[in-house]
Amino acid sequence: MDLIAKNINIINQRIQTACNRSNRNLSDVRMLLATKTVDTNRINFALAQGVSLIVENKVQELKEKCSAVCHLNPEVHFIGHLQTNKIKEVLKWASCIESIDRISLAKKLHQRLRLEKKEIDVYIQVNTSFEESKFGIAPNETIDFIREVAAFDTIHIKGLMTIGLLSSDSKEVRKCFRLLKELQKKIMALKIPNVDIKELSMGMSSDLEIAIEEGATIIRVGTAIFGDRTYPDSYYWNENE
Ligand SMILES: *Cc1c(COP(=O)(O)O)cnc(C)c1O
Repeated sequence: MDLIAKNINIINQRIQTACNRSNRNLSDVRMLLATKTVDTNRINFALAQGVSLIVENKVQELKEKCSAVCHLNPEVHFIGHLQTNKIKEVLKWASCIESIDRISLAKKLHQRLRLEKKEIDVYIQVNTSFEESKFGIAPNETIDFIREVAAFDTIHIKGLMTIGLLSSDSKEVRKCFRLLKELQKKIMALKIPNVDIKELSMGMSSDLEIAIEEGATIIRVGTAIFGDRTYPDSYYWNENE
């Protein structure tokens, strides 16, 4: 547990350093805990250190853990590949879905929200690394996609999310984040009703500095706080539930 507290301090320092270097305000960048595979005792401990934002990738884990951490009132996001038959469950726990990546999902989400008389914030997932294996809208299709989703009045588009290239070549990683920032600027300039994409969710344990330098408002940190996971990320980033 001490290690978790120490790691959170280290991340806060990394955020601070990256903000200083890129002339950004510390208050403009939030740390989001990526809690997949992490048990609720450790999540609760991390929340008690003052982090208030968590994200889960799998509906099953979201459901199992959220009730055990809700007394600390975290803001809960969902970021996995969401199957439409699990929308109902996600709506019970999450206030934001960061992984909207297809119109069929947006449509089903809207139908469910209408039924429940609810609304939700979402980010659009963009595939900035152009890898076949990754979900997300192709950058050149993002504007049309956003126009379509914006027509659903229960769904509020508040940001863009991307998983950058997992590479030690920082130039290539930076390209992904820069592309997301450029898309944000372009889309904001269009002033599409119901679209206010201030948030850029990008950067993880290994590349958060680059993401902050390129404009991230939310960085998502897992291993650098909780240690290595036993499952490979592909298990969380593909279709399997
Ligand atoms: C797991 C995960 C993260 C965090 O990755 P780490 O390398 O553990 O910091 C960020 N984003 C998504 C979508 C994830 O699934």
